[in-house]
Amino acid sequence: MVPVGNFGIGGGEFVVMAGPCAVESEAQLLQTAEAVAAAGARILRGGAYKPRSSPYAFQGLVVEGLKLLRKASQATGLAIITEVMSEDDVDLIAEYADIMQVGTRSMENYALLEALGGCDRPVLLKRGMTATLEELLRSAQVIAMAGNPQIILCERGIRTFETATRNTLDIAAVPVLKTVSHLPVIVDPSHAAGVRSLVPVLSRAAAVVGADGLLVEVHPTPENAMSDGNQSLTCGEFRSMMADLRPYIELQQESRQLCPQLLVAGGAD
Ligand code: PEP
Ligand code: MN
Repeated sequence: MVPVGNFGIGGGEFVVMAGPCAVESEAQLLQTAEAVAAAGARILRGGAYKPRSSPYAFQGLVVEGLKLLRKASQATGLAIITEVMSEDDVDLIAEYADIMQVGTRSMENYALLEALGGCDRPVLLKRGMTATLEELLRSAQVIAMAGNPQIILCERGIRTFETATRNTLDIAAVPVLKTVSHLPVIVDPSHAAGVRSLVPVLSRAAAVVGADGLLVEVHPTPENAMSDGNQSLTCGEFRSMMADLRPYIELQQESRQLCPQLLVAGGAD
């Protein structure tokens, strides 16, 4: 179990982290934080340092964004997860974040992983979009061997030939990782789907197969979002998704008992 504040990830509680892709303004962040807290999320997500595939896209509010995250945490009691992209920013971001997020593009940034090994905050390590599970686990080992065993793995979808979704959610990654590793596993249905209509059903699937929680993008007005609006749930959509999740979480115990058998059953095509 990875402790975060007065609770833990991987200790039996299904922990939901939710919030906007990027911190955009005080009003946007506070409104989202209050809504996700009321719906049952424990952790507020929001990027202050944004890895964007275009240099013309919004790059994040950086330190101003970190300060807004702290303010939202104080207002709601939510813990904070935010992305760190460079080893140079680890110390600064650790002053504001309860969990350090390593994005899909950084899974193989070994200088960053090693710097996070020297940090006293838990690390959420996202699977590289073209990485195997073995490669994900090797990156986790880099952080652990550098001194930080508090690691949470995150399946966020991988690149395949399929174009109907932004990425392909590798749902089997959850039982496989839960069987071969002791680390908690979180699913990010938002970056896998790329469209908000698929997020609730993928979240249910993640709950059933035994994920320890979710990382979900939520925005008060997704049509105005500065990044990832198409895949962001509105606050109301997030509330109804959370209200419907419980029976699927309750199936976890049964699914986990099946995991070793799933691995034995895997074979050649
Ligand atoms: C994000 O969480 O907003 C993000 C950039 O995710 P990923 O690294 O999975 O693309
Ligand atoms: Mn995003």
